[in-house]
Amino acid sequence: MDRDFDIIIIGGGHAGAEAAWAASRLGMKTALISLDPTRIGAMSCNPAIGGLAKGQMVREIDALGGLMGIATDNTGIQFRMLNRSKGPAVWGPRAQCDKYKYAAQVQRLLSECPNLTIIAGEVSDIIVDDTPLHHRGTGFQPVSSSEEHGLKTHATVTGIVLGDGSRLTCRAAIVTTGTFLRALMHTGESKTEGGRVGEESARGLSGCLEKLGLELGRLKTGTPPRLNRQTIDFSQSTLQPGDDTPVPFSYLNEYKVASCDTRVASEDISRNSHLASRHWRPPLPQINCWLGGTTHEIHEIIRANLHRAPMYSGQIQSTGPRYCPSIEDKVVRFADKESHQIFLEPEGLDTDEIYCNGISTSLPADVQAEVIRRIPGLEKAEVLRWGYAVEYDMVWPHQIRATMETKKVSGLFLAGQINGTSGYEEAAAQGMMAGINAVQYVNTGEAGFTLRRDQAYIGVLVDDLVTKHPIEPYRMFTSRAEHRLLLRNDNADLRLTEIGREIGLVDDDRWARFNQTKQAIEASVEALLKIKLHGSTAYELLRRPDYSWDKIAAELSAGGLNVDPHIGWRVETQIKYQGYIARQDKAIERMGELEEKLIPVDFDYLRVSGLRNEARSKLLQFTPRSLGQALRISGITPADVTVLAVAMKRSQRVG
Ligand code: FAD
Repeated sequence: MDRDFDIIIIGGGHAGAEAAWAASRLGMKTALISLDPTRIGAMSCNPAIGGLAKGQMVREIDALGGLMGIATDNTGIQFRMLNRSKGPAVWGPRAQCDKYKYAAQVQRLLSECPNLTIIAGEVSDIIVDDTPLHHRGTGFQPVSSSEEHGLKTHATVTGIVLGDGSRLTCRAAIVTTGTFLRALMHTGESKTEGGRVGEESARGLSGCLEKLGLELGRLKTGTPPRLNRQTIDFSQSTLQPGDDTPVPFSYLNEYKVASCDTRVASEDISRNSHLASRHWRPPLPQINCWLGGTTHEIHEIIRANLHRAPMYSGQIQSTGPRYCPSIEDKVVRFADKESHQIFLEPEGLDTDEIYCNGISTSLPADVQAEVIRRIPGLEKAEVLRWGYAVEYDMVWPHQIRATMETKKVSGLFLAGQINGTSGYEEAAAQGMMAGINAVQYVNTGEAGFTLRRDQAYIGVLVDDLVTKHPIEPYRMFTSRAEHRLLLRNDNADLRLTEIGREIGLVDDDRWARFNQTKQAIEASVEALLKIKLHGSTAYELLRRPDYSWDKIAAELSAGGLNVDPHIGWRVETQIKYQGYIARQDKAIERMGELEEKLIPVDFDYLRVSGLRNEARSKLLQFTPRSLGQALRISGITPADVTVLAVAMKRSQRVG
């Protein structure tokens, strides 16, 4: 086996897969090491990708040339655009996937990556070189970005050790170990070591990360029971069909359908723009889900057994996601509620497993059985797997930069649930960022790829991680993005594909199709400014809420503007948000000034007079890159930043 790599990725979850995809496609000799390679890309919990804000992130990953959107489109068995009753800015694409086919698809896509070796094994240690840089011999010597930031360590990653003691060398490593570090699963009073049901926990790596000076925390997440579809009476639930016209996640699929061939499109439009729009068809057959609910009687059973729930008995000490509570949490926190929703979701086409979305639990199996037996329609349901909670080690993310590189060790990157997040999409987004940055680091000695908060949800995610201390697993919401009107799922390609091309992840085919689309959108906007309709320009008409592209498509066609209805819809959406966006642009400009004010790496916060003690300790803890980043650290006020700015100016003058 080859033992020398440019980049080693530890873990084959959603973060690891995306990191491997990016690093290997960017030409790095990459190894992905995972406890069980047949579980690469596994969906530990819900067999679904996307949703509110998460769907936007998948579109962004795709626009940059990532993997998740393609794998989802190829294995989706129900597509729904969530939040359609609201404006397109907050629509969230979501797809229920066949979870077995999804993992197989990720594995297939990775198997086609050049330069990628997949290795089965447990990484038990990370090897670093901590001799001072000027004492090191010739050969690869990265400019230590931790040095640049004035930290007292010069440690640089040089390799990893596998469980059997064998060593592999690398120039950068990405840790994406998810819920597996010192993982403990709980079902009632029973505790088992393991990161996911049927899988081992990783014991060695936590100690190694601590030895490297990283401060670890412990978080918790949980999953509901799975039932046998053949034993459920669905007549007592409400049918939840998917969308009639599924919207793909990958722009590659969208471009293929919404071709910019104006000749063909004009024929469509002349018939009826809305109906004639050609739609993408998912490759797999589509299925229904069902919606049911809990009852008062069930809540009573749960209340009577709270003392046996690990979260309430004190058996679990760590914090779980508040926004994704277990059924026992819901019953306690929303005591007045008569019923809680349960979505019954098939986990695949060739399996009878049904995921009970809404009743995640770590209650003992006998209580889970009592609960399920009383849910209308589930009286005779056979339980294929009990719900459980898992506790695991994570690294507090103030110890990484926005490039995902640790501040303590050069060339060591962290991505995914290990940084205190939750969710496949959050993990994949970080994996992609870490993959790209590890490549930059290997190529130039310095990682520098970041996305701004006004560019992408991915930028919001990473910025939040490095400026805020998570008190629970971090999940993305639209409300976290102050520029959400800009960060829509329809325009992720316009925001990010050029960046993906510069990085090298966007191939020629995607680039050509993107440019075709972009030109069609720009040409349409130009034409709309010229075409006069009903005493105004068509552009002005489309700004009005009572006009839509569909409504004026025939007139536009008569006026010489023939584009695919989907392009028309994108143009209309862009125009409708233009007013808000202009206002946001001003705010971005103001914030941009603060982002450009970089805090010197050796800046001495201890000498800043007038700084509150809390602010001083937060600044020392987070070591922000700029005044803008400092302002976003939780607990730092605009007044603190003013004091800091004055002190920086003064020290510049003195210097
Ligand atoms: P993971 O998908 O966990 O992958 C980690 C990978 O690292 C695995 O391939 C593992 O084999 C490998 N690995 C670990 N340690 C080592 C090592 N030392 N050496 C080699 N390989 C190693 N998310 C939600 O959003 N909502 C939920 O309700 C939810 N519930 C969950 C319930 C459970 C029981 C579990 C296990 C997870 C749940 N999740 C939930 C989390 C979701 O699964 C993760 O957010 C997502 O999978 C994280 O991706 P990741 O790539 O960071 O890690």
